[in-house]
Amino acid sequence: MCIFCQIVKKEIPASIFYEDEIALAFLDIKPVNPGHALVIPKGHVANLEEISDSDLALLIGAVKKVGRMLKDKLGISGYNLVLNNDPIAGQEIFHLHFHLIPRFENDGLKLFPAGEYKMGEKEELLNKLLS
Ligand code: AMP
Ligand code: ZN
Repeated sequence: MCIFCQIVKKEIPASIFYEDEIALAFLDIKPVNPGHALVIPKGHVANLEEISDSDLALLIGAVKKVGRMLKDKLGISGYNLVLNNDPIAGQEIFHLHFHLIPRFENDGLKLFPAGEYKMGEKEELLNKLLS
């Protein structure tokens, strides 16, 4: 059984602060910033492609509630919502989870450095996407 399923079953400890029918939220043990939270579905699915649309709708509702909790209870003014989907994207635990990463003035985090396309590259990608 995966580590997050063990947390769902309360077989290993976690700093759980939100739970509903489908979702669970707890503090990440290695926070990017204080208050870094993870929201997971209680049922095991590895990634975004594996969760049903109906469960995903409930899960994103839980994400929204947890974000509200971070704002109301911890006083944070905003957060990044991150999903590392698959190993190439840095996923290390193969039980779907959304990261809510609180942001603070001058915290130095740079999540999305801007790149640029080579000549014709964007058009080629767009054509593939539209085909
Ligand atoms: P990812 O790279 O998206 O798979 O992220 C996995 C996250 O889970 C990392 O940020 C870890 O710090 C976190 N994590 C791993 N084990 C635990 C645990 N037992 N309790 C809380 N967070 C955990
Ligand atoms: Zn699991």
